[in-house]
Amino acid sequence: SARNELERLVRPNILALAPYRSARDEFQGLAPASVFLDANENSLGSPLDEDFSRYPDPYQRPLKEALARRKGLSPEQIFMGNGSDEAIDLLLRAFCEPRLDNIVILPPTYGMYAVQAAVQDVEVRRAPLRPDFSPDPEAVFRVTDERSKLLFLCSPNNPTGNCLPDSFLIAMLEQFSGLVVVDEAYIDFSEQPSVLSFLEKYPRLVVLQTFSKAWGLAALRVGMAYANPFIINILNKIKYPYNLNVSSTRLALQALDRADEVQAGIGLLRAERARLARALSALPQVREVFPSEANFLLVRTTDADRIYAALCAEGIVVRNRTRELHCENCLRITVGSPADNDRLIAALQNLNDA
Ligand code: PMP
Repeated sequence: SARNELERLVRPNILALAPYRSARDEFQGLAPASVFLDANENSLGSPLDEDFSRYPDPYQRPLKEALARRKGLSPEQIFMGNGSDEAIDLLLRAFCEPRLDNIVILPPTYGMYAVQAAVQDVEVRRAPLRPDFSPDPEAVFRVTDERSKLLFLCSPNNPTGNCLPDSFLIAMLEQFSGLVVVDEAYIDFSEQPSVLSFLEKYPRLVVLQTFSKAWGLAALRVGMAYANPFIINILNKIKYPYNLNVSSTRLALQALDRADEVQAGIGLLRAERARLARALSALPQVREVFPSEANFLLVRTTDADRIYAALCAEGIVVRNRTRELHCENCLRITVGSPADNDRLIAALQNLNDA
């Protein structure tokens, strides 16, 4: 069964773990309580206009219910984290035995998978993307063994901007025997639909999304993992009891009511992405603008170190990715507001004239 298949992937100590029971876990509203003397909070309130004296709901129920409706899932399929970075960390800690298990990544990709693995003393195996940034299934199978617990697939990929094709994702879901974590931080900017609809069929799929990108709420630190309820339970078991603070949770919920505005913003950023790509392509110091399904462009230049420094001197900060695999002389440029992009284009044109 799906449950047995998943159980065998969990670290035995985590499977056996009896989680910390918080005051708010134990009291589930059996009676309509009005006097809470169970959590050693300060019953006099907070030294602020708003009362923050009470611990928040450990499971962020209203937010999960709203997200579940939006995504066509059930709340039991949702984990909320302090950014999706928290979910990356918890997946590693729940599934990877230090010094025994390994994870597989497809560089160049998001740096936190390897960093969190190193923190946990878990080996990172690399199945590089091809020089055109397409995935290489054979490379994945070459490095995978029975101790490969997590396969991190970032789609659209950071820093390259391309999506991994559905055919590849399905091949991995069919053939990789650990969890397949599809990081969809940038999915809202993409033409390709989310793989959330695959959750039904593939119990070993975990989908990461975030409020940090399309929703414009990076400072609040709210991210999601969508997965089989068994996996969600495991993550809930090992998270800090009150991992999301009450204001972040509430503001994320409020943002969901403004989905139309967010959609309009996504449309604008996609149009700006196309405009910026055209403008950059016309510059002599640009060799190639890679196609992007995200809110950034990977741009191969004639000299990334020099252009990076020159832009910095103009007060424009981009990301120098020249030391990443297959990214020689590449800058990763976030699509800005129309005014930001105008400034960037003008600065690059001036560089050129100088
Ligand atoms: N995944 C990818 C691919 C990212 O680029 C980022 C942020 N740069 C994250 C996850 C983490 O996002 P957050 O923790 O803000 O949700």
